[in-house]
Order: sequence, then C-alpha cells, then structure tokens
Amino acid sequence: MKKLYKGIHKFQESYFKKEEDFFKRISKGQTPEVLFITCSDSRVDPNLVTQSKPGELFIVRNVGNIIPPYDAIKDKNSVAAAIEFAVLDLKVKDIIVCGHSNCGAMQAIFKDEKEFDKMPHLRDWLRLALPVKKMIEKYCPNAHGESRQRIAEEENILAQLQNIQTYPFVVQALKKGKSISTAGIIISKQAGYALIIQRRICLRRLCMEKILEKSRNLILIAVVSSLAASIAAFLWGAAKTATIILNLVVSYGKDPLAAIALIELMDTFLIATALFIFAVGMYELFIKDINLPEWLVIHNLHDLKAKLGSVIILVMAVTFLKHLVEWRDPQGTLFYGIAIAVVSASLIAFSHFGGKD
Ligand SMILES: [Zn+2]
Repeated sequence: MKKLYKGIHKFQESYFKKEEDFFKRISKGQTPEVLFITCSDSRVDPNLVTQSKPGELFIVRNVGNIIPPYDAIKDKNSVAAAIEFAVLDLKVKDIIVCGHSNCGAMQAIFKDEKEFDKMPHLRDWLRLALPVKKMIEKYCPNAHGESRQRIAEEENILAQLQNIQTYPFVVQALKKGKSISTAGIIISKQAGYALIIQRRICLRRLCMEKILEKSRNLILIAVVSSLAASIAAFLWGAAKTATIILNLVVSYGKDPLAAIALIELMDTFLIATALFIFAVGMYELFIKDINLPEWLVIHNLHDLKAKLGSVIILVMAVTFLKHLVEWRDPQGTLFYGIAIAVVSASLIAFSHFGGKD
C-alpha cells in the first residue's frame, strides 16, 4: 500500500503538474471514441499498449475479456451497462476486444470445474467462455499445451466480437453504416506486439494448416499424377502431329482427312494444358506459391475454376471446328454450335461474375 501512496504522490507532484491544462480540459467531460474491452490481468495496460491518453479509451475490464451474450445477462451486469453507455451515450466509433498471451482465464476453461469449487463466481463467469472450449475440442481435438492456449486466446476474442453483436443497440449502430466498427487485438507479452484480428480466421486457419499438413502427401500425388499425364499427353500429341505432318508431306496434301486429324489432335493439347493448369493450381493453392507468368497464377479456387473453364471452351470450339470441317450433318452442326455457344457464355459469365473465394 505504501508503494501505491508514494506513486500517487509522485504522480501529483510531477506528471499532473506538468499536464495540468490537459487534465483541466478533460475534467469538463469525456468523449472517448473507443470502447476497449480487455482482461483484468495485471500485466495488460490498455493505455500503455495503445499509447493513448486519459479520455481516449472507455475501458471495460474483466476476467478473460468476456462479453456475456445478450440473452445470458442476468440481473445486474456491469459489462452490459458499460456497453450500453458507451454505444448509446458516448457514441463510440470503435469497439475493441483485447485479449493477451498467457491468459489465465483461457487456461482455466480447460480445467475441471471442481477446481473452482471455492470460487463459484469465477466458475460461473468462465462458463460464458465454454463455447470457445467446445469449439476447440470439436475442430482442433489434437491441439494441446501452448498451441491450444494460443487458439483459445484468439478464438475467445472472436467469440466476444460475436457476442457483442447480440446486443440489439450494437446491431442497430452497426446497421446504420460506418458509425461503429468492431475489431479484436491480442497482445503478446513476450514479443511485445499487438496483433489485430478482424476476421474469423484463427481456428479455421489453424485447423486447415493441420488438415493440409496431413493431406499434403495426397495433394502431392495428385499434382505429380496430373503433371505426368499432362507431359504424356503433350508428348503423344507431338508424336502424332509429326506423323500426320509427315503423311501430309508424303501425300502432297491430297488427303483431306489428315487435316481433320490435326484439328482432332488440338483436343489432346488442350487436355494436356488443362491437366497442367490443374497440377500447377493445386500446387499453388495447397503447397506453396511459385513464380509463374500472370496467366498461370492461381490465387484461389475461383481462379482455378475460371482457368479450367477457358480450356473447356477451347476444347468445345475445336470439336465444333472439326464438325464444321467434316460438314456431314449441317443441322446437327448448327445445334451443336448453339449448345457450345450457350455453355461458353455461361462459363464466361461465371469467370467474370462468379464470387471470388
Ligand atoms: Zn487474461
């Protein structure tokens, strides 16, 4: 206690005197733009970590930076009261949920509830974070130790960002447009950094990494097989082309069927190209990025589908060209052409307007 008194005295004598005008100004009223919800942990200092001054953050602190869902609020709830005041009266622009590394609350949710028999209020409070525990057990059953702790800390922030959207007045403010925004921050005490979490990616990303790690070999098999099939198709096409050209030269171009055979061969090259794009796409998407010309760069599944769609259009066009050259059934060729045009138009529309993954 002595240390505390000493500190207050020191503050009054030095910092307060130096910043007297500032404190006079803020004594007239507060206009913070940020509602900052963080853990009670003594090692977390919101003003220090955000380098903000008194009056800039409206701070709510509790064990585990938890926001009870709106329908779970019973009787008197200080978190709900603070959110109400911040959103409806102070009209804050941002709501930040800030978690931190080595959070005791996030360790506690994995413990047996019996350990908290002597702390029933803490036990009941932490039950609000049980959905985080359940989610981790469901999606990352193999996560343990530090890895599970990190997932829990990040997922807890995202769960609270979801919980805050169960408050009708927050939803209304969010719907009004850009009057309010929400974000998550996690402070790493060891590394001294704050990571901003805005999207629901943590758990999915970590689980995807685990799944991909396990299925990496399977994807590699698919990539190698497609690549081998592509090379084989190219080589077969090249050999066949050489034979047809040789025949054309030998027959002095008198064999019209040879030209049709050449058109047919284009199918082989296009299929080889499609297999090549598939192999490259799978490698880029699931294994690692590679330096490639722009037309081969695949950022997501939509890119892969769009590129394969282009090859399908070419295959259909070549098939139509073959029918056109043969000219055996004019009416059939016409219908075939219309069908190809419709499919091509759909594929082009998908490529341009289809949602990006
Ligand atoms: Zn904590």
